[in-house]
Amino acid sequence: MRAAGEDTNPRGSRRSSVRGYPARDRTEDPRSYAVGSYSARNAAEKSRARGLKAVLVCVVLIALALALTLAGIIWFSQNPGSNPDEGAGFLGQPAGEQSAPAASYTITLDVSANPGAALSHSSVSAELGTSVERLPFATLAGMRFTGWYTAPPGDPAAVKVDNASLNVLARDSDQTLYAGFETRPSSTDYDNPGLPILMYHYFYDPENGETGEDANWLDIRLFREHLAFLQSNAYYFPDWEEVVAYIRGEILLPERSIVLTSDDGAESFFRLAAPLALEYGARMTSFIVLIDLLPERLEAYDPTRIFIQSHSYDMHRGGSDGDARILTASYQEIYDDAIRGKEILGTMWAYCYPFGKTNDTARAALSDAGVGVALVIENDRAYPLCDPMQVPRLRINDGTTAEYLASVAY
Ligand SMILES: [Zn+2]
Repeated sequence: MRAAGEDTNPRGSRRSSVRGYPARDRTEDPRSYAVGSYSARNAAEKSRARGLKAVLVCVVLIALALALTLAGIIWFSQNPGSNPDEGAGFLGQPAGEQSAPAASYTITLDVSANPGAALSHSSVSAELGTSVERLPFATLAGMRFTGWYTAPPGDPAAVKVDNASLNVLARDSDQTLYAGFETRPSSTDYDNPGLPILMYHYFYDPENGETGEDANWLDIRLFREHLAFLQSNAYYFPDWEEVVAYIRGEILLPERSIVLTSDDGAESFFRLAAPLALEYGARMTSFIVLIDLLPERLEAYDPTRIFIQSHSYDMHRGGSDGDARILTASYQEIYDDAIRGKEILGTMWAYCYPFGKTNDTARAALSDAGVGVALVIENDRAYPLCDPMQVPRLRINDGTTAEYLASVAY
C-alpha cells in the first residue's frame, strides 16, 4: 500500500540527474572564476577545444545509449518471464507495457458531511487485486466515529466497512467511503459490548521438555489453540491508538475486536508467543519493565504487529512498606519513571501497572505524563469512557482453553 499519486517509477529522477550534471559542472568549476590570467585568443582556443571535447563526449554517450538499448531489446526478447520493473530500472529506458508499475486503485475517504472532522489521511491505495491494509479513523468533537460507509450518510443502501470487513470492498476500482458518526456517550458506555484485553504472562513448550512454574505459565500449544480460534472467527486486533480512541469514546471498534497482552515474560514471549501470534495474523503486546529491555527487542519485529509497551521503567519491585513500589512512590517519582519509559519507546499509548497496583497518586502522575491508557487486572472487559487510568484486563492462566476464551471474547 502506498499514498495516492506516489511516483514509484525511478526513471524520472535518473533522467533529471543526468541532465543536471553538465550545468553543475560549469558553475561549480573553480577555473570559471580565474578570469585575470587568460588572453582573449587563448580563451577562444580553449573554448573551441572544449566544444570539440563536448561533441566527442556526446558521440560516445549516444553510442553507449544505443548499445545499451540494443542489449536491452535482446535481453528482453530472451527473458520474457523476467521482472519487467527490474529490467526497466536497469536500462533506464521505457520497456513497453511490461515496465509500468503495478496498477493500483484508490479509496477516497470523505468527511465533508461532517464539518470539523479530522482524518490522518484522506485516501488509501493498494495494488489492483489486493486489499488495503487498513482504514484510518476520523474524529469529530462531541461525536463517536462509527465507521466508513459505501454511500453518504442517510442513504439506505450504505454498507458499513471497518477494518474487520475490508473484504467487502472491491479490489479493482477507485471508490469513495463516507464517515459515519453518532453522539458520543457522556458516561461509561455499558451498552457497548466492551473490549476484551487478555493478560498472558510466560509461555513454555512441553514438546521441548519445558514445564510451567506456576499458573502464570501457559502451555504454548494452548496458546496456539487460542490463536486458531481467534483467526477462524475473524477477530480484529486493534493497535493502541485505536484502543485509546475507543476508551475515550471517540471511535467504535469492529464488533469482534480483542487485544492480546503479555506481562514480564520477555524471553518466552519473544521466543514462543510472538512468532505464533504473527503466524496467525494477530497483533500482540509485550509489557516489559523497561530498565531490563534489551535494545535489540525493539527491532526484532514489525512494530505495527508486535508492540512493546511500558510495565514501568523501574517500578516493578517492592516499596518501603513491602507492597508494590508504585503505592508508596511520590507523584514525581512515578511521573519521571513514566517519562523515562517514553524516552526509550518513543510512545506511551499503554502502561501496565506493576502487579496491577494503582492509587490516586499513580493515576494522576501517569495521566499528567501523557499515558493513553493504564491497565489493571479486574477480570472485566474495557468499556468506552471507563477510567482510562484504570482499564481492566482478563487474566489468562495455564489451562485456559479456547472454549473459555470464546466465552469471554464473544
Ligand atoms: Zn509484572
